[in-house]
Amino acid sequence: MDPESERVWNEPMKTLLHGADYNPDQWLDRPDILDEDFRLFPLAGVNTVSVGIFAWTRLEPEDGVYDFVWLDALLNRLAESGMQVILATPTGAKPAWMSQKYPEILRCGPSRVRDLHGARHNHCPTSPEFRRKAVGLNTRLAERYGKHPAVILWHVSNEYGGECHCPLCQEAFRSWLKKRYQTLEALNKAWWTDFWSHRFTDWSQIESPAPHGESFIHGHNLDWRRFVDAQSLDFFLTESAPLRKISPQVPLTVNMMGTYPGLNYWSWAPHVDLISWDNYPPWHNAQRDDIAEGAWTAFVHDLNRSLKHGQPWLLMESTPSQVNWQAVNRLKKPGMHRLSSLQAVAHGSDSVLYFQWRKGRGAFEKFHGAVVDHVGHEHTRTFQEVAEVGRDLRALTSVAGTRVPAAAAVVYDWENRWAIDDFAGYSRSDRDYQGACAEFHRALWSRSVACDIPNQDQDLLGYQLVAAPWLYLLKPGTADRLRAFVEKGGTLVLTFFSGWVNESDLVFEGGFPGPLRSLAGVWSEELDPLWKGQSNKALPVPGNDLGLTGEYQIATFCELIHEEGSEVLATYGEDWYAGRPVLTRHSVGQGEVYYIAAKVDSRFVDDLMGSLIRRVGLAPAVEGLPAGVVAQVRTDGTTDTVFTMNFNNRPAGDLPSYGVKWEKRPKKAGG
Ligand SMILES: [Zn+2]
Repeated sequence: MDPESERVWNEPMKTLLHGADYNPDQWLDRPDILDEDFRLFPLAGVNTVSVGIFAWTRLEPEDGVYDFVWLDALLNRLAESGMQVILATPTGAKPAWMSQKYPEILRCGPSRVRDLHGARHNHCPTSPEFRRKAVGLNTRLAERYGKHPAVILWHVSNEYGGECHCPLCQEAFRSWLKKRYQTLEALNKAWWTDFWSHRFTDWSQIESPAPHGESFIHGHNLDWRRFVDAQSLDFFLTESAPLRKISPQVPLTVNMMGTYPGLNYWSWAPHVDLISWDNYPPWHNAQRDDIAEGAWTAFVHDLNRSLKHGQPWLLMESTPSQVNWQAVNRLKKPGMHRLSSLQAVAHGSDSVLYFQWRKGRGAFEKFHGAVVDHVGHEHTRTFQEVAEVGRDLRALTSVAGTRVPAAAAVVYDWENRWAIDDFAGYSRSDRDYQGACAEFHRALWSRSVACDIPNQDQDLLGYQLVAAPWLYLLKPGTADRLRAFVEKGGTLVLTFFSGWVNESDLVFEGGFPGPLRSLAGVWSEELDPLWKGQSNKALPVPGNDLGLTGEYQIATFCELIHEEGSEVLATYGEDWYAGRPVLTRHSVGQGEVYYIAAKVDSRFVDDLMGSLIRRVGLAPAVEGLPAGVVAQVRTDGTTDTVFTMNFNNRPAGDLPSYGVKWEKRPKKAGG
């Protein structure tokens, strides 16, 4: 655990935040609207607003000319009203005058063509001018508001993302590579550049991956992703330095985007005081039902909680009704707003915050859901449901700062995902790494067993049951950590696509799953991908002690493995490899390793995990809940708060359609 993660968040507040992104900078000529906002805040049960996220043009209307008059008045009025403020730095979007005056701040795409001014999230993270402008404004914000009584948290920029291929970034990429590899020979080795005669003889020959240039060197692609992550983080550290220096007592966060593939949030987590993320599940969609949507959302909540080792996090954005950017933007059915809001709290959030407080009249987000609709008053279904959540959060005040204890984990690793998404071979269309992780998580979630989502760098010794599906890219130390976990009594589930390449995306010699071979007790010799419509069967060995019976369907991937000291628990039912192992178990030290060689159906994953939960002795938060109803616990070490949630569009158990309830009980011993 890193020392920075020990900073205590929420100590002074001891409350759950309820509120929204608030953009009065869009209404500065309408004092009547601002008056109305202040009348409506208490009616909605709102205690917090996020301010200034896209306000750069209003704060610095000309180069070096600052206007804080409106923000002074606003923050003072919020403080007088007892409201808390999450104050943003506005670097998520830049003023037009700035793009015109300093064109180097405009981002270049992979084609090397520079963007025109417009949109947002499009600055060059390397540009010294952009860094200078960001630091200039952030210094003034910190000096002016760092001790303001309303300000409780810095919201640094907004949803960092994307990448820049400009000449400045090319140079920074080469510098980053020099630091990583020291010598060009080491880089050539790591990238296997004798392939297609791609060997570099001078650092200046190296460019970022491009559609009209290099894109076939996997180590190169992987390092570019690492560089984009590192350079974005470096920009964040630069722009947040004045906040840290001038207002060290105000914690800071960045709003993350779940499993967004462009950044590795594990590298960011040590540098923020608390994790926050923006959650927009497409409820009531035609592709997956609300139970599946609830399971996926729980997975991402658990991931965010794990980024700081269980510390409470913030739901920074969600919509009170619908969004405006999905293919079809459905309304939340009655009850769903309360359910989805309290689901976040149940998984460790100390807030329910929305984008946005009030709908604007123009531009891209004018039809994005908001607490206050264009009609302008509180007599709407959405406003009343928000007010109901406000009452819930007040009643749940004692939950603030409490933890979610978990004895199970599913490993999800960004660098592994990058490598899996990129490699050529087998079947590309079915390569859904995060779907595979979510499937194992769902088996725990649906049984009301709490689950963390560590990456492969984390110590696993505190867990009893860990699934690490598709661990294709193995970093140094991972195999040792997994072995230590198993030897001390842990139960580990591995699958096909494991232990294939190292951190440079170079294939392990000596047979798969590489460094995991002796731990898994199997040698994976070949992999047979199946076409859509083709299938095989997994047949549990009769009388196996996991209680697996009948047959399960296999699609997409079939690994052909040899047991090496492991016990076979299921075999293929068809094709020329009928009878070869599909599921094995290997005893190591005081623990066990299960290896699943094929993409067996979800029912198999669910049955296996259910059996392992019982075998390991993990207790559900609540026993005997109907399908689609799950429970989750937060605890202060003495008292548990148990949330029970119904994701069915019909009553189930004692809950109505999309119902949620909570109750207090003494903490279970050992739980
Ligand atoms: Zn750039």
